[in-house]
Amino acid sequence: MTAAVDLPTATVDTAALRARGRVVEVAANLLASLDYTGAGGGLPVAVRMHVDRLRHAVKLAILTTTAPALPALAPSPTGAAALGRWAAAQPWAQPNSGPVGWVYLLCFRDPTTGEHRPLKGNGTGGQVAGHYWGWTSDLVRRIEREHRNPYWSGPGRLVKVALGAGLTFELAYVEYPAGRGRERRLKNQGSAYRRCPLCRGTGNPLDPAAAAATLLQVAGAQ
Ligand SMILES: [Zn+2]
Repeated sequence: MTAAVDLPTATVDTAALRARGRVVEVAANLLASLDYTGAGGGLPVAVRMHVDRLRHAVKLAILTTTAPALPALAPSPTGAAALGRWAAAQPWAQPNSGPVGWVYLLCFRDPTTGEHRPLKGNGTGGQVAGHYWGWTSDLVRRIEREHRNPYWSGPGRLVKVALGAGLTFELAYVEYPAGRGRERRLKNQGSAYRRCPLCRGTGNPLDPAAAAATLLQVAGAQ
């Protein structure tokens, strides 16, 4: 004789799942437009912290929703799959490759007026460089001991040339944790001017040590 065994059955509240899926979709669109427009970079550190948490939560929700083992949880299988494919292609969903460090933006300034002043190349068709994107594993050392050092002969020649031309610079923007790929993506987006909080009037010059301490704390709290 065989005893009847009640297998646990998952009860799925489809209305709640649809609502959850909608929130994830709207949040994902918000994150995508922040990335696409670069507006996320102009947000205060405290707000960026919440944006990063939202990213993490959306990523988890999407992974859970589209996992092959849980097809019943997908609010709409095709929509979830499309969202999953979209999410997997986003920079923040890529596995970290290479070392983690700091992406930073330097803004060239006039030492007398403190105003933004681009470095102009020689000749009539000379290149104009107003900013410098960099990546480093040690933010304070990179800024204070390398970029600020007029005798520095390692990578970052553009900054040395700017100092030699009588300009100075401010640390305008920092991201952490970030790989070298993030620096490439930001550079490829062009127009650092558009992303510079100092030029946009949305932020003040950053102190490397204070910025590093704050971002390490934020990253550690997640
Ligand atoms: Zn600037």
